[in-house]
Amino acid sequence: MIPFLDLQAAYLELKKPIDDAVSRVLNSGWYVLGPEVEAFEDEFADYCGTTHCVGVANGLDALTLALRALEVGPGDEVIVPSNTYIATWLAVSAVGATPVPVEPDLATHNIDPARIEAAITPRTKVLLPVHLYGQPADLDPILAKARQHGLKVVEDAAQAHGARYKGQRIGGHGDIVCWSFYPGKNLGAMGDAGAITTNDANLAERIAMMRNYGSRAKYINEVQGVNSRLDPLQASVLRVKLKVLEEWTERRRAIAALYSDKLADTGLTLPQVPKWAEPAWHVYVVRSPRRDALQAALKEIGIDTLIHYPIPPHRQQAYAHLGLAEHTLPVAERLSGEVLSLPMGPHLLDKQAALVVDSIKRKV
Ligand SMILES: *Cc1c(COP(=O)(O)O)cnc(C)c1O
Repeated sequence: MIPFLDLQAAYLELKKPIDDAVSRVLNSGWYVLGPEVEAFEDEFADYCGTTHCVGVANGLDALTLALRALEVGPGDEVIVPSNTYIATWLAVSAVGATPVPVEPDLATHNIDPARIEAAITPRTKVLLPVHLYGQPADLDPILAKARQHGLKVVEDAAQAHGARYKGQRIGGHGDIVCWSFYPGKNLGAMGDAGAITTNDANLAERIAMMRNYGSRAKYINEVQGVNSRLDPLQASVLRVKLKVLEEWTERRRAIAALYSDKLADTGLTLPQVPKWAEPAWHVYVVRSPRRDALQAALKEIGIDTLIHYPIPPHRQQAYAHLGLAEHTLPVAERLSGEVLSLPMGPHLLDKQAALVVDSIKRKV
């Protein structure tokens, strides 16, 4: 039996420090924001190489607050990848703006910078690339395009903790970078959690205010904010896990290297990593036109795989009103029918990864 991701093993490896951290918060008598959240914010900003981090309740809120802080609203358009988790789109819709999808590069699965120009209109406010699967998107042409058109760049880094673009960690390239610490993410809490990082002090302060009822000083409300605060219990767990993030990312890299080496001659399409990218390997995604049969065969022998994602956002009922009929975004649709994510995580053993490889070789 090989699980897709073993979260219990992650807890057991760090049980003592996590239990101590949680107990420290419980004993502190301080249960909303406060020193534990501030300490995590400082440490995560440091890790990302940015000047500011603001903890929020989850990744979707991080994206939504980022767009609100940039005053994106009704009538505005935000350019998003056609191939992403639906949260990227939902954040745009949550502020009343319209998501405008751009197709991915088939090789990297990430937004194709060459296709962005054609999607820009006078209503476009923000480019919102996603570092999908932990692979950094090609940021330089995206940032250049934004500068050229006077647009802002918000990055969805929910899958990219520790990934590097041209040697620099994701976190400080765009105007605001949005993070999720959902338990299954590379840096995962024991529940929902999220953050934004930025090098812009004004934007950081604005988001810190908006996440806390639009209030900087108690009972003084400057804007109609929300309650989306990072929980100190989650912050205390994240502080423990941040210390091992590099080591755990290394283990993911080793598994990815093993998969790429041993699956090279199977006929599967393997992840392609551009020279400038150091992925965080949130997931290891292969492609096959016979994906469903392969997944079912692996399931039968106890190997769990996942599909990221089986239905692209534009084909979801939630976005039926956009009228994006089938075949309007053929690359995203093709990927949704062919992608398969293999077991991946810091607690997957080499012998388990080898068993995944052998099983695939017998089935393809
Ligand atoms: C997980 C994820 C989100 C949303 O994060 P939550 O913390 O679950 O709200 C957004 N975008 C992408 C690409 C994600 O993978």
